[in-house]
Amino acid sequence: MLQSSKEVARVRLGAAAKSGLLLPQGLFASPEREVIQAKAGPSGFGRKAHLLCPFFDNAKNGCSVWEHRPGVCSSYFCKSEKNEEGLELWADIEAYLNQFEWTLANAVLWRLGFTQDDLGLSEAVMLSESSGPERAWLQKRAWVEWSGRELELYDRCASESYEIKTEELDELLGEDCLSLENSIRERSA
Ligand code: SF4
Repeated sequence: MLQSSKEVARVRLGAAAKSGLLLPQGLFASPEREVIQAKAGPSGFGRKAHLLCPFFDNAKNGCSVWEHRPGVCSSYFCKSEKNEEGLELWADIEAYLNQFEWTLANAVLWRLGFTQDDLGLSEAVMLSESSGPERAWLQKRAWVEWSGRELELYDRCASESYEIKTEELDELLGEDCLSLENSIRERSA
């Protein structure tokens, strides 16, 4: 989650917006960044200066946005004591956590009045190839009436997330995601 102190959270939100895509569902890498990363291949991440995470703060030698890392960050390892088997397990954990976070974020936004069309706008932003005015326009629309009140929305989402029951979330996650969760549990035991 973003830093709890409002002041610090505001600074971090600014850093996040500058280097990535800030959307109601969370913070994401820009499509341009995804292209650079894809060209470098799976082993390229973090090994050269231009392939460092855009949210890494060199001066602080740490993350500029997260106090507690999300799934994609906390499940990343460049090597494993269990070689391929270990890396595959972590790749599955990443896939599971990404699905979990995305599903939970959308469920919370739905409860706060976002429509399916509103939620789809975030996906359109993430898929937009050009970083010009069209993406900026789409991104603003994705925030609906919360544009300019991003921190407020995130706070509301955090409170609302506690209202979601496990059974409701399980249903939204679906069978495939739950069987992936079980498989991860078995392999981690
Ligand atoms: S925790 Fe590391 S990988 Fe994740 S956003 Fe921060 S700097 Fe990037």
